[in-house]
Amino acid sequence: MFNNIIYSIKKLSKRGIQNMLMVKKFGGTSVANKEKIFNVANRCIEDYKKGNKIVLVLSAMGKHTDELVSLANDISEVVPKREMDMLFTVGEQITVSLMAMAFDKLGIPAISLNAFQVRMFTDNNYGDAKITRIETERIEKELSENKIVIVTGFQGIDKDNNYTTLGRGGSDTTAVALASALKADSCEIYTDVDGVYTADPRIVNNAIKLETISYDEMLEFSNLGAGVLHNKSVKIAKENDIKLIVRSSMSREEGTTVANLYTKISNLPKITGVTSNKNTVSIVGKDIDTETKDKVIESLTKNNLKFNNLDQTNMHISINVKNEDINPCIRCIHDLFFKK
Ligand code: ADP
Ligand code: ASP
Ligand code: MG
Repeated sequence: MFNNIIYSIKKLSKRGIQNMLMVKKFGGTSVANKEKIFNVANRCIEDYKKGNKIVLVLSAMGKHTDELVSLANDISEVVPKREMDMLFTVGEQITVSLMAMAFDKLGIPAISLNAFQVRMFTDNNYGDAKITRIETERIEKELSENKIVIVTGFQGIDKDNNYTTLGRGGSDTTAVALASALKADSCEIYTDVDGVYTADPRIVNNAIKLETISYDEMLEFSNLGAGVLHNKSVKIAKENDIKLIVRSSMSREEGTTVANLYTKISNLPKITGVTSNKNTVSIVGKDIDTETKDKVIESLTKNNLKFNNLDQTNMHISINVKNEDINPCIRCIHDLFFKK
């Protein structure tokens, strides 16, 4: 703790308190239309005018990436992965250029860059590529000219200059990898919820917002389906000790800090939350014991919810359920642990 404070003070005095390098990532719903694009621009300008340097990472607008999948599937059910990635990269490129135009309209210098222009390298595993190296020179040059730099999320290039993508939801990973490469002072992931909750707040309406969550639990949570953060982004954040703030693009709420911290939660410290991926519902936490497992089985049975293939580690319990039972199971387990 003490070391952390000293480290932060050193960092601040090196750059000056109002000269922070901030990476901010905004997801698809946060840039879905003109009003939202200007909302993002104005939020960035607030920090820019305080003397901070801003690197903005953006996703494709709204559901544009899904629309690109439909366009491809209309041509053929099985498309070459390289060509799918070539198509995917269009989505993010539209958003970054429109955002640069919005800054221009607001009188703020900005430039949009795609993965090719940045030189953001990945392996050639199309559709699920891994970032291998990011060159920082171009971004640093533009920042030194006082521009806001807007970078396409989700995409990279392989060593032969083919476009690649990082997997659905991969813009989070672009942001975290950039924050690490640029040694940024902060990395904020802005989305359509105001933090990480004990369950998807769209499924469980009394889900509880976590103030903080450890890297390990967040990694387990996103590996098992909590789509609020791309799992690779959490892995990179953990490996490079990048503190992430997940917060809303529409409100000023504090958000959730993902860091090397204890998960702070109100009642049951062993359980972090409930999530799902396809037909698997998972309870995530730490030191999950047999007592917890027994409680889950008892509660599901009492509610006539059938499951099979129970898998347990000390960080999760996963069960397979029928499609129509996914949300009832999530709610039942969430109530069991979190209902006051
Ligand atoms: P973005 O387009 O901003 O990247 P995503 O759709 O990828 O947004 O992620 C945000 C969504 O994640 C929320 O709208 C919410 O429905 C979902 N979600 C799933 N699990 C959780 C959770 N545990 N806490 C918060 N949000 C969650
Ligand atoms: N646009 C991509 C997707 O929809 C990447 C992202 O949003 O992070 O998956
Ligand atoms: Mg996302």
